Amino acid sequence: MKIKEVKAEISYNSRKEKTVSVYVETDKGKFMGSAPSGKSTGKYATLIYVGSVEKVVKLINKLSSKIIELEIDRFDDLKKVEKIISKKNVGANGMFALESALLKALAADKNKEVWELINPRARKFPFPVGNVIGGGLHTKGKKPDFQEFLIIPESENFFENVMLMNKSHEIIGKKLGLMKVRGNLNDEGAWGCSLSDEECLKFLNDVRKELMSQVGHQIDIGIDVAASGFYTGYLYNYKNPVKRLSKLKQLEFLSKIISDYDVYYVEDGFDEKDFDDFSLLMNKVKNRLIVGDDLTVSNIEKLKKAIKEKSVNSLIVKPNQNGSLIEIRDLILLAKKNKIKTVFSHRSGETNDNIIADLAFGFQTDFVKFGVKGKEREVKLNRMIEIEKIFQ
Ligand code: PEP
Ligand code: MG
Repeated sequence: MKIKEVKAEISYNSRKEKTVSVYVETDKGKFMGSAPSGKSTGKYATLIYVGSVEKVVKLINKLSSKIIELEIDRFDDLKKVEKIISKKNVGANGMFALESALLKALAADKNKEVWELINPRARKFPFPVGNVIGGGLHTKGKKPDFQEFLIIPESENFFENVMLMNKSHEIIGKKLGLMKVRGNLNDEGAWGCSLSDEECLKFLNDVRKELMSQVGHQIDIGIDVAASGFYTGYLYNYKNPVKRLSKLKQLEFLSKIISDYDVYYVEDGFDEKDFDDFSLLMNKVKNRLIVGDDLTVSNIEKLKKAIKEKSVNSLIVKPNQNGSLIEIRDLILLAKKNKIKTVFSHRSGETNDNIIADLAFGFQTDFVKFGVKGKEREVKLNRMIEIEKIFQ
């Protein structure tokens, strides 16, 4: 591919925070990549910027003449890019925006889809994991302590699953409104509400049962506890209702709600350092997805530790927790080799970029967590639907 220009600039994400966009120009046009950012960021994730957004933009622009000289003709050629410019000098967001723009330009150059550059034989569609009720750091007002309450429809058809997530979101909004407990839509387009964690789970489990009686397939529910957000070093410090749980009590509480409300998916149930507590939960509950996000921060060494300690059976993959798409591929391969389910995920502060749908499909992840409502979420779900249509 012949690159004419690489240019970085400052843009804004859905939370109106500054982020970086990179444009790559070729004979086929101008292609843009942009980076999201999180709020419940794992302490051990790669820095998203080295210095400031401004500094990163400047550095990419300074190195653009070197990037232009590179021969980039396949996905693996991102290694050449990572030799010149890496997450160590521009941070994970600079790298992700740059690599995204390059992949889009390359796909156009080769008359291919981005996912085909990764795996032209990809055929299996992920199940969407949809955030319908929110709490924690993503939500304002009186709220549950858990960050996300999730619905996971499991029809074989991605489009149908998205329709079902939309329907659940609408029903939940109406019901919470009638109960006079509904808050505003939060950072990820999930409903804020004043119910406690347990009340939300009971409510969501009832909605799930109602919907399952109408459709002919399984629907599961899940939570992202994002427990590091309210862990004080000794105790899990709940506000709604006020309670302080030791690690052991947290384990008992999670085990109880998993069983009482049939919770299938549990992300970050414990603090990001506590691989051993994740392992205890893995031992205690069977046939559930025990998911690492802040625990594993899309980092290969952290995943190795989690595998060794049997801490998780599922892994959140966020490209900008890592900063290298080459490493993201290795991470997913390692997960798959060890029968760890993979969940490709958006961030709470998102852009309108939809490349994560192509990446997730190309890497053939088991699930995608892209949210349900809001332009930045819908463009990603719609892109996956568009890919599904290619095969129909
Ligand atoms: C998450 O914790 O799974 C998440 C998407 O939140 P954030 O982007 O704020 O890290
Ligand atoms: Mg999470």
